[in-house]
Order: sequence, then structure tokens, then C-alpha cells
Amino acid sequence: MAKEFVKDITAMDEDFAQWYTDVVTKADLIDYSSVRGSMIIRPYGFALWDNIKNEVDRRIKETGHENVYMPLFIPESLLQKEKDHVEGFAPEVAWVTHGGSEELAERLVVRPTSEVLFCEHYKNIIHSYRDLPKLYNQWANVVRWEKTTRPFLRTLEFLWQEGHTAHATDEDAMEETIKMLNVYADVLENTLAIPVVKGEKTEKEKFAGAKHTFTVESLMHDGKALQSGTSHHFGTGFAEAFGIQYTDKDGKLQYVHQTSWGFTTRVIGALIMVHGDDRGLVIPPKAAPTQVMIVPIAQHKEGVLDFAYDLKNSLGKVARVDIDASDKKPGWKFNEYEMKGIPVRLEVGPKDIENKQVVLVRRDTLEKIVVSMDQLEEKLVALLEEIQSNLYNKALKHREERTSVATTLAELKESLEAKPGFIKAMWCGELACEEKIKEDTSATSRCIPFEQEKVSDKCVCCGKDADQMVYWAKAY
Ligand code: AMP
Ligand code: ZN
Repeated sequence: MAKEFVKDITAMDEDFAQWYTDVVTKADLIDYSSVRGSMIIRPYGFALWDNIKNEVDRRIKETGHENVYMPLFIPESLLQKEKDHVEGFAPEVAWVTHGGSEELAERLVVRPTSEVLFCEHYKNIIHSYRDLPKLYNQWANVVRWEKTTRPFLRTLEFLWQEGHTAHATDEDAMEETIKMLNVYADVLENTLAIPVVKGEKTEKEKFAGAKHTFTVESLMHDGKALQSGTSHHFGTGFAEAFGIQYTDKDGKLQYVHQTSWGFTTRVIGALIMVHGDDRGLVIPPKAAPTQVMIVPIAQHKEGVLDFAYDLKNSLGKVARVDIDASDKKPGWKFNEYEMKGIPVRLEVGPKDIENKQVVLVRRDTLEKIVVSMDQLEEKLVALLEEIQSNLYNKALKHREERTSVATTLAELKESLEAKPGFIKAMWCGELACEEKIKEDTSATSRCIPFEQEKVSDKCVCCGKDADQMVYWAKAY
């Protein structure tokens, strides 16, 4: 199908991985760099990230957090202070061994995450209950030496925010952990139109050094899951390792209770794989750098360009509007902006001007709508909202169609093959069962969802009594 329209994008159902690669490069989101697994985020990709970042940052500030900046390097001895943390991250850190030609007395790691840096700092600035809570966040790049990489989804270096907070009590820390998970869910669902399943990671899948890891999981077009953001409750583990203590109201020394939470450029990958189609990207209006692209028709005719620029200015008050007045053919422009996923195309030519109307074309359904000039602003605003909710509903329907129930391992395997997606199944809580499921089906536990259903009363793997329902899926 797609081949009729955009000659160079592979059809999704022919080769999804190739489709993804085509989209990220041809829609000008990224370019590859000479370092494996690293990418150049081009202006269009970065504008998209900027919008997402602003949405997240606004919510982070609204919930009382402050932005700070930590150094890029971590001394080896500092990383080693928390045992589980270093074990989890050591296999994927990049080392700095030399400064110029001189070997360093102590090796440095390029931060894969900044827990230990925040801990070192918190030890210095937290003394009394009056210093709590500390609600810090940083926007930064981090480096993890990933074995397999893919643009946005898993890169060696990625951009993110990492929140790190310290609280007086365990309950306060837990409240914060869930609050920030809900912020991620809100951005994913309301800005990116991506429905999520919220839940807790199993012991095996949780963050190195965390007591609890919570996650928002989403389902891609091909039925694979993507961990789209995580929020960790640390308890006092890091505080004990780093000696972060405060004097409480009774004058007693207490350890702080900590959290951390991260959201990365990976979500751009999610957006592409949830909403994209054979013509390329489909960007939900709230996330789109350009929401409306004006394409003048017969623009050499007198008055057309003036009219189009006037429209850009007036509509610019209600939406993010751009215009392509280059000398490329309208047909080329149509394809280009469809591929770039711009939610609405506005066509205007001499006839339209005469009839006091314009043509709007929806990217999500490709429907053409003739709108009279006196209703344009109002109709456009409503249309952008309609596209936003249509994309969410479509993604939700797809997820629902791709969610099955399994009560035996054979069923789980069969379902994954017949209809790749989420499988809901009971689990006894044993690591051995989780590992066997992964070995037999290559599906991993995505989360123990907050919204539990008793789909059976026996473990899908061993058949013993089980009272936890888990979402399983193959994942990116
Ligand atoms: P973590 O600090 O391990 O909890 O990671 C926070 C979030 O970063 C995860 O939930 C993923 O969504 C995302 N993430 C992890 N590794 C990568 C990577 N290599 N590239 C992009 N995003 C990542
Ligand atoms: Zn079991």
C-alpha cells in the first residue's frame, strides 16, 4: 500500500524493524553518527523532544521539584558504595582512564544514572528534619554501554530527566514514587496519546539498588511492549550506604528515605511505534512541533501567498502553524508532511480564496474537510482535539485487541505466536517460574499491574497456587 504514496518507506507489516529505521531517518528525526549506538538528533527530532520535555518539566515543577545539574563523571570508589547498584551497572558503564596522556589515579565512569552523585551531595546538605524533603531533578545525558541498540529506544547515550528525592519517612517516599509514576502516565496518555499499564516490576526486573520499581508499560504496533518510564522507591538502602542522616524532631538520628525516577528520549520511539503508519510518522497534536502545515496551491497566482501568510499569522494564535511556500510541487509537500506526521494540512488556492474557504486534511484518517473561513479557528481547534483523542482511542483499542489471557505455559506460548501482545497470567512469585517463562517463550514479566484481575488461581508455569496477575510480553 504505502509504496504507492511514499516510495521509500518499507510497509510496516512487511518488515516492522525496517519501517522504523526508514521513518526515523526519512522523517529527519535522526542521523547516525560514527559511534555505534549513538545518534544525532536532528532539528525535527529535537523539537519533538523539546515539547515532550516541556510537558514533563512543567509537571515536575508543579509538583514542587527543583532542577539542578550534577557532574558527568563518577569516581569508581563512589559508584561502588552501594553493592547492588554497582553490580547492576558495572557491566554497562563507560570508563575514563586517562586525562590527556596521563593515566588517572582513580578511574571515572561516565554517569549511567546519578544516584551516587545525589547521595554524596545529600549527605552534605541534609542534617535536620527541616531540610526535608529534598525534591531535586536534573535534565542530562547519560551513557550505558548497551549491547544492542536502536534509535531512541535503546541508545548508548540518551537524554533524560532523573528525579532524586529524600524524605523523612517511608510513606512520604512511597507517595512521591507513585506521584511521579502518575506524572509519567499523564504525559504518555494525555500528551503522547499512548495508553499505559501501571504496575510494579518483579524482583528480577527491578532497578539495581531499589526496594520497589514501578513502571508504565505500553504496547507497540507490532505487539511488543516498551517500558516507558520507571519510578523507584529506595527505602533507606542508599542512605545507609552513604550515611545520609537527619536529626528528627525528638533529636534522634534517622536515615532518609529516597526515590528516583526517569523518563527518556525512548518515548519518541514509543510515539513512532504506537501511532505511525505506512506513510510514516503520525504525531498527536499535543506533542507535534508543527500542528498545522499550510500548503498554498497555485501559489504563483496573485494574492495566494499573501492570503496564506495571513492565515499563518491569525491561526498562529490558536495552534502551532507553519507554511511551506517553497517552489516544490504541492504533491511533494503533501507526501513530505504526511511522512513527518504533521496532524493537519491546510490547503488553500485561488478557488478557495474566492469561495472564502480552505481545505483541512487530517493526518490520522486522511479525511478532507472543507471549512469556511468564518469558522476556521473554531473548527481547527476542535479538529486538533478530535485527532488527539482519536489517536489515543485507536491505540487503546489496539492494545485491548492484543491483550490475551493464558492459564498454562502452552497457552501463553500459543497466544504470543498467534497474537503478539500482552498476556495476562497468574504467577506464584517464584523466580524459577519467571525464568522458565522467559526461556520457553522469550516473554518477560512487564509488571504486576495495580489493577489486578484473578484470571485463574494457579501459576501459569508451575500450577501452584498463585494470587498475583502479571502482564507478560516480548519487549523492546
Ligand atoms: P532506569 O534508570 O534504568 O530505571 O531507566 C529509566 C528509564 O530509561 C527506563 O524506564 C527506560 O524507559 C529508559 N531507558 C533505559 N535504558 C535506555 C537506553 N539505553 N536508551 C533510552 N532509554 C533508556
Ligand atoms: Zn510458579
